[in-house]
Amino acid sequence: MDNLGPVLVALLVVAIALAVFLSLGPRPEILVVVDAGHGGHDPGAVVAGVQEKDINLALALLVQRKARGTGIRVVLTRTTDVYVDLVERVRMAEAIGAVLYVSIHANYHRDPKICGVETWVDTGAHAESLRLAESLQRAVVLATGAADRGVRRQTLYLRHTKLPAALVEVGYLSCPAEREKLLDQAYQERIAEGIVQGILNYLGR
Ligand SMILES: [Zn+2]
Repeated sequence: MDNLGPVLVALLVVAIALAVFLSLGPRPEILVVVDAGHGGHDPGAVVAGVQEKDINLALALLVQRKARGTGIRVVLTRTTDVYVDLVERVRMAEAIGAVLYVSIHANYHRDPKICGVETWVDTGAHAESLRLAESLQRAVVLATGAADRGVRRQTLYLRHTKLPAALVEVGYLSCPAEREKLLDQAYQERIAEGIVQGILNYLGR
């Protein structure tokens, strides 16, 4: 029985070391939802054979890939060319416990000279959605060097969620030079990096 003391001390040391190790381990991942706008029967803007829905999906998949290892886990509303009901998209984000919602779109204007990045929030958006939108806008403009057309308000389906929610219009398909870039893999990667950085900045990570 004399040997029991040192054994208990050793066990206690191991238990404390384990507790310290676990508390210093990686922080749990933060869940965010990223939406590829449009899909399926809804192509979004179509210019010179380029369909917005395809650009949006390529970017959303890139965002998901680039977010790996950053502490955020990106869940997509769609991973293929299907249409998902708009309100379903934000309901899904709430149901899985996401902390924010970002929708990716490409823009259209009848004036081909209009080019650049905009981020939209709903007209009734709360302060957190605006803060998210500002963060995304700043980071995407910085990553791409595109013209900064600012954060704007419009009536959007994002009003159906209380989550911080913003819609990034990553560029104009109707602007020929920007359309070329939006089809370029390297430029798509820069947009995706901007979106990930914008989310991380918003979250203070
Ligand atoms: Zn769109």
